[in-house]
Amino acid sequence: MLNVPSQSFPGPSSQQRVASGGRSKVPLKQGRSLMDWIRLTKSGKDLTGLKGRLIEVTEEELKKHNKKDDCWICIRGFVYNVSPYMEYHPGGEDELMRAAGSDGTDLFDQVHRWVNYESMLKECLVGRMAMKPALPKDYHEEKKVLNGMLPQSQVTDTLAKEGPSSPSYDWFQTDSLVTIVIYTKQKDINLDSVIVDHRDDSFRAETVIKDYSYLVHVALSHEIQEDFSGLFYRKCQLVSKEDMTHDTKLFCLMLPPSTHLQVPVGQHVYLKLPITGTEIVKPYTPVSDSLFSEFKEPVLPNNIYIYFLIKIYPAGFFTPELDQLQIGDYVSVSNPEGNFIISQLQELEDLFLLAAGTGFTPMVKVLNYALTNIPSLRKVKLMFFNKTEDDIIWRSQLEKLAFKDKRFEVEFVLSAPTSEWSGKQGYISPALLSEFLRRSSDTSKVLICLCGPTPFTEQGMKMLHDLNFSKDEIHSFTA
Ligand code: FAD
Ligand code: NAD
Repeated sequence: MLNVPSQSFPGPSSQQRVASGGRSKVPLKQGRSLMDWIRLTKSGKDLTGLKGRLIEVTEEELKKHNKKDDCWICIRGFVYNVSPYMEYHPGGEDELMRAAGSDGTDLFDQVHRWVNYESMLKECLVGRMAMKPALPKDYHEEKKVLNGMLPQSQVTDTLAKEGPSSPSYDWFQTDSLVTIVIYTKQKDINLDSVIVDHRDDSFRAETVIKDYSYLVHVALSHEIQEDFSGLFYRKCQLVSKEDMTHDTKLFCLMLPPSTHLQVPVGQHVYLKLPITGTEIVKPYTPVSDSLFSEFKEPVLPNNIYIYFLIKIYPAGFFTPELDQLQIGDYVSVSNPEGNFIISQLQELEDLFLLAAGTGFTPMVKVLNYALTNIPSLRKVKLMFFNKTEDDIIWRSQLEKLAFKDKRFEVEFVLSAPTSEWSGKQGYISPALLSEFLRRSSDTSKVLICLCGPTPFTEQGMKMLHDLNFSKDEIHSFTA
């Protein structure tokens, strides 16, 4: 028997309910939480209506199943009967119906590429799409099939002219060394633009160039089969876990020895854990181990630790499980995602950070990076919203940093302070913002970053627009 609270679930502020990244989520009916879905999938009920049989589905057949009570969707060649899942879908039934009777892969990737649907929908699997006779492919199609990366010999003139979207690779081998060279034709490739994993007999390198990601995957001794689509996860070991506040911990994970992954400033990853037999993923934003770690590109790709500040919600779904992990246990970590572009910081003069609760996490690397790498920077101000003094993450580090670096100022605003608190109080408001967001000169280049609970971010965005900051001057962190 699963032990779940009897109150309405997910909770009013649960990530399972709340809108993120501008996409709408709908309130789920009572008894339709993720936990309820998992329970249903484990009940032995026939969710496909096929009594466990898997079938080959033709396009014609797929098209027929386009009604709410008979809805099949194809994702990456696999067909699922999602009718039983309708009421459990956090994005609502209408959102699922957009893909009814058709291939929903693109739609799914746009909205939540990271969701581990294979595990969530495994009891709804109807079968595979039937193979179509091969059609002549144009080069775009071929590119897609190969995930954007072609061996150099196959890069045609047309492709080569496409610029950033046509890198190629080559490899050289000696008795002890295999060198794989990726020709990107780009000047500013950083260490964090390349993610490399080597596991047993497979080698995988992902190169991120502008809005594209290119993959080279090499089977080192014999052929391997893997699904390249979706997010790639590697198992990382929990090395330490330290209390930072009464409910927030600093988790340190160690990457596998043969992985190089440096999460770009402002991006997040997904952590994946099996919970009651189903793989569950949630987004988290890596931080530096402290505000004082120098932000420098390492000469060698030797960053093997990845740090997270994570708040444990006792009634939450994922964080209590994370908190149960023992040192030495494993968590899967995905490739990074996010739409923060580091060039937004170039030539910046004033940087304003508005963070609420764990919305502080993306600010950590942005702050470190800006103070260390942006010579034009005159001022960085953080307004940090929390409920009580006890909730403030890294308060003494922030105060020390403000003391040490005169460009940096921090202001704490509490929404539920004790009577001893003499600082600012309340929620985000136009009055607080207009006083706080003073440019160092009328023409200074400004960026305002904000992150926190969805209502905080939404209200903040509206207030900033009303204060006449342009879209280019604002970045909100969302999923
Ligand atoms: P949920 O199950 O989602 O619950 C969240 C809230 O609902 C809690 O208040 C919980 O108490 C309440 N609740 C749950 N069940 C019930 C119930 N039955 N009745 C009443 N109330 C209930 N978080 C971090 O800590 N650090 C980060 O670095 C971080 N980065 C993020 C990056 C992105 C891009 C996004 C979108 C989110 C990030 N988050 C981060 C939030 C994180 O992804 C999770 O949403 C968070 O950890 C809560 O997960 P959970 O499953 O434990 O809680
Ligand atoms: P919390 O409940 O402790 O609240 C912190 C502060 O947020 C409050 O003191 C208040 O000032 C403000 N706030 C809360 N509810 C508000 C409301 N309805 N209207 C206006 N202001 C409000 O916060 P928490 O539990 O630490 O939650 C942090 C949130 O930040 C989570 O929702 C998490 O998903 C989100 N987060 C997002 C990202 C991201 O998108 N990149 C990263 C980290 C955290």
